[in-house]
Amino acid sequence: MKDTRAQLLASRDKLVPQIPDPSTILPGSLLSRMVRCNKPGCRFCEEGKGKGHGPILILSVSLGGRKVRQIQVPGEMKKEVEDSLRAFAQTQDLLKQIAGINFELLRERKRRR
Ligand SMILES: [Zn+2]
Repeated sequence: MKDTRAQLLASRDKLVPQIPDPSTILPGSLLSRMVRCNKPGCRFCEEGKGKGHGPILILSVSLGGRKVRQIQVPGEMKKEVEDSLRAFAQTQDLLKQIAGINFELLRERKRRR
């Protein structure tokens, strides 16, 4: 079919400009967690009563293999980190879609030889 190739190219042309700026991307997930300071007599950490301090934000990043790295994210950086995580997820999603289209295009080309 003549249209298939044109449709695939049009879809790809729409996807490519949607890829976020790669200089902003961050992988991982943002976790919210309560922490205990273990200071005697702290009313936030009292056994059975206190809920601990926080919540604090933790960025957890898995960088291949078994290595998981975690850092605490200050509240004022939360939005920036969330945006970066979203940009990473979007990038991955778009690359998968584009790769899928390229696969179909390759198949189309083979068929037409
Ligand atoms: Zn405490």
